[in-house]
Amino acid sequence: MQKGNIGVTTENIFPVIKKFLYSENEIFLRELVSNAVDATQKIKTLASMGDFKGELGDLTIEVKLDKKTITVSDRGIGMTAEEIDKYINQIAFSGANDFLEKYKNDANAIIGHFGLGFYSAFMVAKKVEIITKSCKEGAQAVKWTCDGSPKFTLEDTDKPGRGTDIVLYIDDDCKEFLEENRIDGLLKKYCRFLPVPVAFGKKKEWKDGKQVETKENNIINDTTPLWTRTPSELKDEDYKKFYSTLYPMSDEPLFWIHLNVDYPFNLTGILYFPKVKSNVELNKNKIQLYCNQVYVTDSVEGIVPDFLTLLHGVLDSPDIPLNVSRSYLQSDANVKKISTYITKKVSDRLQDIFKKDRKQFEEKWNDLKIFIDYGMLTQEDFYDRAKDFTLFTDTDGKCYTFDEYKTLIKDNQTDKDDNLIYLYANNKDEQYSFIEAATNKGYNVLLMDGQLDIAVVSMLEQKFEKCRFTRVDSDVIDNLIVKEDKKANTLSGIQLEAINTIFKMQMPKLAKTEFEVMTQAMGENNIPVIITQSEYMRRMKEMANIQAGMSFYGEMPDMYNVVLNSDHQLVKDIISDEEANCQANILPIQHQIDEVTKQRNELKDMQKGKKEEEISQVDKDKLSDFDKQWDELKKKKEAVYADYANKNQQVKQLIDLALLQNGLLKGEALSNFIKRSIELMK
Ligand code: ADP
Repeated sequence: MQKGNIGVTTENIFPVIKKFLYSENEIFLRELVSNAVDATQKIKTLASMGDFKGELGDLTIEVKLDKKTITVSDRGIGMTAEEIDKYINQIAFSGANDFLEKYKNDANAIIGHFGLGFYSAFMVAKKVEIITKSCKEGAQAVKWTCDGSPKFTLEDTDKPGRGTDIVLYIDDDCKEFLEENRIDGLLKKYCRFLPVPVAFGKKKEWKDGKQVETKENNIINDTTPLWTRTPSELKDEDYKKFYSTLYPMSDEPLFWIHLNVDYPFNLTGILYFPKVKSNVELNKNKIQLYCNQVYVTDSVEGIVPDFLTLLHGVLDSPDIPLNVSRSYLQSDANVKKISTYITKKVSDRLQDIFKKDRKQFEEKWNDLKIFIDYGMLTQEDFYDRAKDFTLFTDTDGKCYTFDEYKTLIKDNQTDKDDNLIYLYANNKDEQYSFIEAATNKGYNVLLMDGQLDIAVVSMLEQKFEKCRFTRVDSDVIDNLIVKEDKKANTLSGIQLEAINTIFKMQMPKLAKTEFEVMTQAMGENNIPVIITQSEYMRRMKEMANIQAGMSFYGEMPDMYNVVLNSDHQLVKDIISDEEANCQANILPIQHQIDEVTKQRNELKDMQKGKKEEEISQVDKDKLSDFDKQWDELKKKKEAVYADYANKNQQVKQLIDLALLQNGLLKGEALSNFIKRSIELMK
């Protein structure tokens, strides 16, 4: 019997492994089963090259549980005593402590780096045995035992067949790993697609109201998962079926892409475009990453471009370095190539469907849009590819490419400064009347109601030349696309002031909302009062909601413009009614205001160029007296207007109608409006 110390420089490596890797201790099973797979693949290779002449036999790997142990058995190449010494005993490395300290949060890094694969058994076991018989002719079976200290024993033993049994005596604080359900779950997670059959006990069936074991092995894996097969031999149904085994509760996928490269890097996999219903964030991290069919992780950030983390499916590549930290991954040349390759494949596939079957593409556009938008927003090279197949949808549901749409609106929607104006709505019902007004003018209105459209609009404004996106309700129709200089208002200064003041006084006081009243000649057939919201301010506020560092805009009030149509008969009527009622009172006050203003200006002129101390006290008093008089006169004037406005039911009615149209009339105000409307009908 041979005795010795395992060649680690650290006095006792196992407690260190245990402590640092504890949160990931379940991966021990993956490590042991994939070692068994490797040993099995090797014997197959030896046999196929004629270097192993014996019977291969049944190569199924077995995982067995009993009260105290887990055993992983394979019929692979096995090991001789010399090989155990070389591969298991001499895991000598220097600076182990430094390394463990550096990567203590990244178990994969440590395991990959040092080939601690086998030693991960000590994360859950207090004692480990290797009972193995090499495939070499006449080999002597050996048993290696280690209790977690650097001391081991190695002795000859009896073993009927070729291969290796790894027996783990599970630690008292890891008893969960002796539960059938726990192991079954782990095998399904890590071993589901391993290339060699893995049996976990026997299949069970119901007999006489009880579950009984059958003779048949309970194979937990699919050894030839879809991504390893030749695309040309597969049907749509196969892809859909595979998708539903990966994500049993999901809707059918929209499209899929079968990846299959072996130069300059090795990558296989299938990516699916899922049907996403709502939140982008919630749907990330559904891609599973494999390394030669061994499950590694479902966090692919840093490996595929951010927007593609929204896709579902599997990627399998031995060329993705897993023994480095995530932040380092992004700078790895292979990872960069893989990421670029995947982006190109995805855009090629979309382009292909668009060209071959535009109808299908348009039907699925609503579901696809979120991926493409996200991609264009986050990845410049994806925008360059996607711009040819990205679609705009108008409020009638028609789809256009960017180029097609430009051609459609070029003639009618170019303003006097040669800017192409893209009109859009984000809610067909709420903005109905604005859409109608635009359509009546022969304009086309896009529907931009996607989750990312606020950001997309800003991006497209940067990308397209000489263009502006304007929401239909951001101004009155003639101002949305200004084709010639504005028609001058025919109202006098005092008329304008009167009507604006009267309406302003009757506007409701709403929290965080401000109304600016103005008058414009909009044609007698247009509605009398319209409320619009400036595109700029609204967008800033919308951006503030989705972007950090803009909360300042979020705090600003909503600013609306109330535009009175001076061409409309009702507005004209109010103006003449107001003149008949108020002007007799207003004119004398206005006269006094003009007089005070004139005298104040004269005084100011005289003081021009003088320093503060050169102005006499008398003059200073005079000036402040004028200011006081002016303020009082203004208040007097406003009181006249207020008095009139209060009695004018028509002004209130027009304001409420405009508020109603914008969804701003609610609660008590709405109830008052209904009562008033009934009164007016009597
Ligand atoms: P790695 O698998 O990364 O090389 P491990 O520590 O898991 O590192 O294993 C070390 C070596 O021990 C393997 O390379 C292999 O030669 C040998 N080995 C481990 N498990 C088995 C097994 N089940 N059958 C045969 N050889 C094995």
